[in-house]
Amino acid sequence: MSVLPHASISEYESKRARQRCRYYFGRVVQLTNKTGRRVIQYRQITGSTRLVTLLGYPVTHSLSPLIHNAAFAAAGLDYAYVTAAVEPGNLKQAIEGLAALGVAGSNVTVPHKQEVHDLIDVTSEDARFIGAVNTLTFDRSGDRCRISGDNTDIEGFTRSLDLYRPNLINSTVAVLGAGGAARAVSYALLKDFQPESLTLVVRDIQKGLVAANVLDTIAGDCQMAVVTFAEASDSIRSSRLVINATPAGMAPNADVTPWETATDFHSGQLVYDLIYAPEKTRLLAEAENMGAETLNGLEMLIWQAAASFKLWTNEEMPVDTVRQILQEHLAKR
Ligand code: NAP
Repeated sequence: MSVLPHASISEYESKRARQRCRYYFGRVVQLTNKTGRRVIQYRQITGSTRLVTLLGYPVTHSLSPLIHNAAFAAAGLDYAYVTAAVEPGNLKQAIEGLAALGVAGSNVTVPHKQEVHDLIDVTSEDARFIGAVNTLTFDRSGDRCRISGDNTDIEGFTRSLDLYRPNLINSTVAVLGAGGAARAVSYALLKDFQPESLTLVVRDIQKGLVAANVLDTIAGDCQMAVVTFAEASDSIRSSRLVINATPAGMAPNADVTPWETATDFHSGQLVYDLIYAPEKTRLLAEAENMGAETLNGLEMLIWQAAASFKLWTNEEMPVDTVRQILQEHLAKR
């Protein structure tokens, strides 16, 4: 069966079964009977399909297989994405196994994002700085496989703010949280948006100070601060951009918010929740009621995937198709 040009939908009349064979994108095939009822739909895997994996524990909740398999099919690329539940302690063997298998790449998620750094050949400056790798690329030459690590959350976050960029340069920013995402978005802001001030709002002041001390080395003229949630009202009120980089409010805990005092929000602010499920968190609903602009984490999710996709395939991810598929999927959940 030949593969049709990507993103095309065409029909082929099977001589034997008189079934209609419809190719959705390049690699998803749907057979329908004479009345148009779907008989079977399948994804083509060939003898030369390149493999991409997700290494994490657990991995069953991940949207990455949906994103990347849709993107590979839409781009007509002979790649497949699968998850691998790798228990803590087994990462080294898993990576060696992937290198031996000749995979094209991997995503890395909790709990391996830090440990993976010591198991690969080279880590990008960005990933090294924030201490977390989320994407591996395996380059084979002869019998040698070189494994590179990157963090595409940084580019994903930056791209997600493309529309807002002119109004965000030299702004005041508050970031809730001090974990991996908080470090990635703070790094991206310091590198690309020259904030006037950046305040980390944290539960644990020691963790906040550790993160802030690292970020301070690239802060330049930006005024860095760390405050606890109890002390953060002034920072929230005076920030042009407020980012939730905590899991508070994520499904199934949609009744929770990381910031209880909704009256601190106002027009002229952008309140950005890195959570994408639910689509509108309590934080975003309350900020919107107070007149703030709001943004959820879907664009960051899409753009970090696009950056990983580019590293593995050297091609642009069909972002609009992926966005549509993701939105439909999330709406059904
Ligand atoms: P993480 O490394 O575990 O860090 C979570 C941070 O949130 C920690 O500082 C933690 O404080 C704090 N925290 C947890 N629960 C809290 C609560 N109820 N109230 C206040 N602070 C709380 O997690 P992460 O990887 O940074 O991810 C954070 C969020 O960003 C998650 O919701 C994740 O899904 C989202 N995210 C989205 C994208 C995207 O593409 N849209 C990408 C990355 C992450 P302690 O240190 O005191 O525990």
